Amino acid sequence: MKIAMIGTGYVGLVSGVCFSDFGHDVVCVDKDPEKIAMLERGNVPIYEPGLEALMVKNVEAGRLSFTLDLAAAIEGAEAVFIAVGTPTRRGDGHADLTYVMAAAEEIAQLAKDYLVIVTKSTVPVGTNRQVKHTVRKANPELDFDVASNPEFLREGAAIEDFMKPDRVVVGVQSERAAEVMADIYRPLYLRDFPIVTTDLESAEMIKYAANAFLATKITFINEIAALCERTGANVKQVSHGIGLDGRIGNKFLHAGPGYGGSCFPKDTKALARIGQEVGLPMQITETVISVNEGIKRRMIDKLLDLCDGSFNGKTIGVLGVTFKPNTDDMRDAPALTIIPALLGGGAKVRVTDPQGRHEGEALLPGVHWVEDAYKASHNADLLVILTEWNEFRALDLKRIARKMATPRLADLRNIYSARDAKRAGFVAYESVGRAPFR
Ligand code: NAD
Repeated sequence: MKIAMIGTGYVGLVSGVCFSDFGHDVVCVDKDPEKIAMLERGNVPIYEPGLEALMVKNVEAGRLSFTLDLAAAIEGAEAVFIAVGTPTRRGDGHADLTYVMAAAEEIAQLAKDYLVIVTKSTVPVGTNRQVKHTVRKANPELDFDVASNPEFLREGAAIEDFMKPDRVVVGVQSERAAEVMADIYRPLYLRDFPIVTTDLESAEMIKYAANAFLATKITFINEIAALCERTGANVKQVSHGIGLDGRIGNKFLHAGPGYGGSCFPKDTKALARIGQEVGLPMQITETVISVNEGIKRRMIDKLLDLCDGSFNGKTIGVLGVTFKPNTDDMRDAPALTIIPALLGGGAKVRVTDPQGRHEGEALLPGVHWVEDAYKASHNADLLVILTEWNEFRALDLKRIARKMATPRLADLRNIYSARDAKRAGFVAYESVGRAPFR
């Protein structure tokens, strides 16, 4: 089957590459000439483990290509996927649908034969109907269907998630579209996973409800972590103790500096906006959004406290800036709230991240980039772990403590323990939801 994929970002590129690996003939389109040129040279513009090798393999097999030319891409395609960005619209929290609707218009102008227009981007309830209306208006003769196929992959584990999904959600209005979607995902049937077939609106809602639920779970444990600190409990033990309950589950119960990333912040805001628009405020989600902001501020207070009440003149080393490990994505990362607060308070900030520098240089002006954790700790008054990259999980803490002017560690991912830090010669250690030592 021939498939066209519009958008070669984290979702479009991974989906396109994986569909071609299933054996489909895939053409990926983007508006960005630099991205397409890079992809044509066999380079991946983002950091996603395993993606480049899989991409090169399928290009060499003749099943995958890249172009700026949408007309050529959709010629003969039975399905066109829209995988463009849906960022938060400035001002009101609504998902910005400009790119989705522009892609729908372009498809309408160029398509000739029957095809299924599939929205993979995360979009508010009602958007697929809007896409249908837009296409019909622009090209009344066109024989087409729309389908909603939200994506659940996680950056950093995107290929594994795409190839072995917990489920695939497909929202359709016709048997014909359902069959095309079933054909696309058929290669996955050998493995045991459910295809959840729904109406358009339910598919759209599933994606927002899933992300809001996960954001709620993280925020819940982060709030419990704050209470643990006040009461002398240990949030790691608490997470373990509640996570063993099958009704709760042990995933997404790691306390940290607040959720960030390309999806949770914007999708919780968009869900809250949908509720406001229909006169039914999503009170839990709205609270989660504001509690998460409070959690990031709480981290800044923690660091301030470790710096004896002032960042001014302090040298602070920061390990990790991406919103999680194994990605170069910095969208809405906690680092973007925390590091400017350090700089604003007069600190000199030394940063290292295995993949974040390329994005981070533009987003964090004023920081000094170094190669590794040891360079970041040189003469520092405080070392902060912001992202739990593998590189930061087995540090030689003794060596780090010796290099620092004042060996103080803020472990905002709970990688180490107060005991580890004390043994290594640190004079102060703070984590999230566990007893510190000073
Ligand atoms: P992204 O910003 O990385 O990529 C979007 C790409 O679309 C860009 O390369 C852009 O140039 C291109 N584009 C925009 N308009 C275009 C057009 N008219 N024609 C051709 N190309 C166009 O975005 P992303 O992170 O891949 O997210 C895409 C969608 O998937 C969003 O709705 C997001 O919420 C959703 N999603 C993302 C993730 C994730 O982990 N990143 C996971 C699940 C769902």
